[in-house]
Amino acid sequence: MKYVVVTGGVVSGLGKGVTASSIGLLLKSCGLRVTSIKIDPYLNMDAGTMSPFEHGEVFVLDDGGEVDLDLGNYERFLDVTLTRENNITSGKIYQAVLENERRGDYLGKTVQIVPHLTDVIQDRIQSVAKVPVDGTPNPPDVCVIELGGVVGDIESMPFIEALRQLQFYVGAENFCHIHVSLVPVLGVVGEQKTKPAQQSIREVRAFGLVPHLLVCRSAQKLEDYTKEKLSQYCDVLTSDILNIYDVSNIWHVPLILRDQEAHYAVLSRLNLSPAEPCVEKW
Ligand code: ADP
Repeated sequence: MKYVVVTGGVVSGLGKGVTASSIGLLLKSCGLRVTSIKIDPYLNMDAGTMSPFEHGEVFVLDDGGEVDLDLGNYERFLDVTLTRENNITSGKIYQAVLENERRGDYLGKTVQIVPHLTDVIQDRIQSVAKVPVDGTPNPPDVCVIELGGVVGDIESMPFIEALRQLQFYVGAENFCHIHVSLVPVLGVVGEQKTKPAQQSIREVRAFGLVPHLLVCRSAQKLEDYTKEKLSQYCDVLTSDILNIYDVSNIWHVPLILRDQEAHYAVLSRLNLSPAEPCVEKW
């Protein structure tokens, strides 16, 4: 199993979900079977009880699971049918750990975030990733995992640590980390500013999760000098710096990423060959 993990920095609502869905679609178009997991670090069990004014529309899955709209994006982009298990929340993870503890599974040990909570997160990810979602009995080749929120939020820390451990456990060639960050333009100066992206990369690296690809969200196309500067400061090759600029319709995003050959960057990191001649035919 190969894992593609999408994290985000600077601010929420950057387009991590759209990025993760689009990368999944590109990989699917290379002939790979793709599934996805959305991690929501809040303590609610699911999105069913959350105010749509605060949280946005709730998406209802075929099995009745009430989840974040990102799961709807995954189903539509990837043409798959997901279940409530594809949405992992802190609430579900804490509940599982506390049930284990009450059953006596930890045999008198002190129950801790590391390793007990992080082990449950990793087990959950690995078991959900294997479940076929495309209507065939075949297990997926790639699991795209989106970590909701912003790196550095206290709620997402156990998940970051669990993903760091997962990378070590599954091996470097099975784990691709994509970090989505913001490249703003200050009105008066008119220059694309790289500092927020530099700082969010520094933060995520400090937790042991080194980004392999950097996705920069910007209003306009990224200038070459901006890419070069980011590459120099963030240790990411310019060919692994992708740009998603504002578009009128999110269905353009897979095309923007295809034009930048994002699929080849991910396939190369995961040591995968396309099962069919990729997306040039689009
Ligand atoms: P996140 O997962 O980071 O919170 P989402 O993927 O849910 O962000 O996107 C947040 C909002 O921004 C959504 O309404 C989405 O349609 C919009 N969006 C994402 N990418 C773009 C883009 N490149 N251009 C315009 N709107 C976008």
